[in-house]
Amino acid sequence: MDIKNVAVIGAGTMGNGIAQVFAYHGFPVTMIDIKKEFLDRGMAAIDKSLSRLVKKEVIDEAKKGEIVKLVSTSTSFENAASADLIVEAIFEEFETKVSVFKKLEGICGDKVVFASNTSSISITALGASISRHENFIGMHFMNPVPVMKLVEVIRGLATSDETTAAVVELSKKLEKVPVEVNDYPGFVSNRVLMPMINEAVYCLMEGVATAEAIDSVMKLGMNHPLGPLALADLIGLDVCLKILIVLQEGLGDPKYRPCPLLRKMVDAGYLGRKTGRGFYDYQKG
Ligand code: NAD
Repeated sequence: MDIKNVAVIGAGTMGNGIAQVFAYHGFPVTMIDIKKEFLDRGMAAIDKSLSRLVKKEVIDEAKKGEIVKLVSTSTSFENAASADLIVEAIFEEFETKVSVFKKLEGICGDKVVFASNTSSISITALGASISRHENFIGMHFMNPVPVMKLVEVIRGLATSDETTAAVVELSKKLEKVPVEVNDYPGFVSNRVLMPMINEAVYCLMEGVATAEAIDSVMKLGMNHPLGPLALADLIGLDVCLKILIVLQEGLGDPKYRPCPLLRKMVDAGYLGRKTGRGFYDYQKG
């Protein structure tokens, strides 16, 4: 499998980071979203991230220009037709993802690899929504994508060895470290991370400590670079809630019950950094 052209579906937090990483490593990328304003926001995020690298003298202005040129944007799935790899990074909703894959299956060639960046939805179930499910795999990048080394490569029950090998090789070309795991709810990353975040939210709700104190304990005592509540704000509280629901339903164990305070924050629209407010207030910068 020779992967040369890439299409990224979704220009949000993860999608624009994934598009940037592919373009940085010389791959032409088409970034697709439902509205032009979301694409513009995604391109602005790429520009900001690359400008930071110029400032740090990791790249120069000319290289930045070359990278940006490799990213094209579109609101039409038809523009994914020539892609060898599709990386889907849209909302964490099973039905929405399935409808996107079904549409793309009719547009893309037979050999295209479909990768989902889902945090927790079953790769096996998503793959079963298309006819060539041996070409379907989980390619779980971490946030922020340009910085984080890990790509959790998730094999669904039907994923072929050939698809897995291609995605492992490709991840290395992106200077990432691919780690292969099997498809179970939350995979490894979120199966371990989300219960910790959830427990931190329970600590806050029960008044065990302030948000700052909870995060300080985990940073200074456990050597975590970010505390669990600050990390939840970075991931997005809506994303955290959806993952916990998948864990609870998929594993049937009440220990994954999302904390009522987390639900309340999401109901209020306090989704973390992306809305300017989560467990911390980001509005003042
Ligand atoms: P986001 O809300 O920032 O961005 C999602 C984007 O998808 C939006 O721009 C939206 O307009 C677009 N979109 C929605 N429906 C679409 C459709 N039908 N066609 C095209 N575009 C569509 O979300 P995000 O945080 O980037 O998360 C995306 C995926 O990555 C989710 O599956 C999430 O679970 C996963 N993920 C998130 C993180 C994280 O830290 N945020 C980390 C790893 C994986």
